Amino acid sequence: MKLVVLGAGESGVGTAILGKQQGYNVFVSDKGIIANKYKQVLLNNNISFEEEKHTESIIFDADVVMKSPGIPDAIPLIKALKQKSISIISEIEFASKYTNGIIVGITGSNGKTTTTMLVNHILKKANLNVGMGGNIGDSFAKQVAMHNYDFHVLELSSFQLDGIERFKPHIAVITNITPDHLDRYNFKFENYVNSKFRITKNQTETDFLIYDFEDEVIANWFKNNKVKATLLPFSIKNKLEQGVYLEDNKIIIKYKKEEKIMSISSLALKGKHNTKNAMAAAMTASLLKVRKETIRESLEDFEGAEHRLENVLKINGVQYINDSKATNVNAAFYALDSMKSPTVWIVGGVDKGNDYLDLMPLVREKVKAIICLGVDNQKIVQTFFNVVDLVVETMGAEEAVKVAYKIAEKGDTVLLSPACASFDLFENYEDRGNKFKKAVREL
Ligand code: ADP
Repeated sequence: MKLVVLGAGESGVGTAILGKQQGYNVFVSDKGIIANKYKQVLLNNNISFEEEKHTESIIFDADVVMKSPGIPDAIPLIKALKQKSISIISEIEFASKYTNGIIVGITGSNGKTTTTMLVNHILKKANLNVGMGGNIGDSFAKQVAMHNYDFHVLELSSFQLDGIERFKPHIAVITNITPDHLDRYNFKFENYVNSKFRITKNQTETDFLIYDFEDEVIANWFKNNKVKATLLPFSIKNKLEQGVYLEDNKIIIKYKKEEKIMSISSLALKGKHNTKNAMAAAMTASLLKVRKETIRESLEDFEGAEHRLENVLKINGVQYINDSKATNVNAAFYALDSMKSPTVWIVGGVDKGNDYLDLMPLVREKVKAIICLGVDNQKIVQTFFNVVDLVVETMGAEEAVKVAYKIAEKGDTVLLSPACASFDLFENYEDRGNKFKKAVREL
């Protein structure tokens, strides 16, 4: 069988290795330049490849084509493959054929990485043989090729879910759904929502779907759609018949029996959004029979994910927090919501059609100064110049930090939570966060 892999990134190269291992004749094709680290892996594994082109004679000769999730369906090459009825498979689908491990799949607009890392941390502490990957770290295909895990904890993007046919997680989590990536969904929110719910489409009664009970988008979807999986919502406002909820600020899991897990004051990660992530993770671990003591300990000592409300340093009584991963308004909302002291907020970058009005009450309540970071800050300035005493425009992380340092007083917090993409000034959100942290450390 000839397997052609389109795109030589993490998922493409993972698929190539797994395909080769499974006896396929593999060819990798990338329209761009292949990163050196991946080129080396292909060479080491004797896998043929091409870069900066797609040779159609080879691609159309494939029995099956794996399309990397970053490649849109609408491009002519993919349309031609469909016309020729050549089977197109995604990495997640392909990898799932070759493992018997139990799969936990985590999707949502925000909180995927944090929840995935929390689940992985708990399962590791419970001494289970677990691998974490998907949209973070190693691709699922690479995990399946290189390890024999009993449990796969996978972060899944909507693009990855678009490519699945039979893939079935035993436990699926949808953290929340808010508008994002609409450019890839014909600007129809409904398409994006349906894409997230694909995570449950192959689940049966013995599988579980964990989701935010208070998420209106999810609640609306359920009005018109049914799923087979057993539903276990999490809620920070309502007591539930079944699922996970709060009582006197304690996390209670109710499924078959009722278990008090812990008080939210001892959770390592602060903020309402992280309480929700922790509840989803606790529910998942409990379904996998992890003892509640282990769940509690893990949620207490979890060290947090870089660039997500990451405490950087305290200088002269001012706490500096790096939340560079907040690339949309909803993520910045939760960051501001979790601020306990007057906040100097560093915000801005590439606007993705943001509506900042949702943030207005929080900004009024918590923000003492706004430092705009980015090439074009007009929208932010216009929205907030009447609301906040001080709005300053800056061009780079270093300058923003220096200005923040001048403004912030003992007891304040300086928060980088941009609500925007980073590509105007930085390579990506990691680069933005790292430059911010470096500037803070140099103060
Ligand atoms: P994702 O992998 O879905 O992008 P992350 O865990 O990396 O999610 O978090 C992305 C951003 O969203 C961070 O700024 C984080 O503070 C914020 N965030 C995390 N969990 C949630 C949540 N449940 N709801 C809203 N925002 C969240």
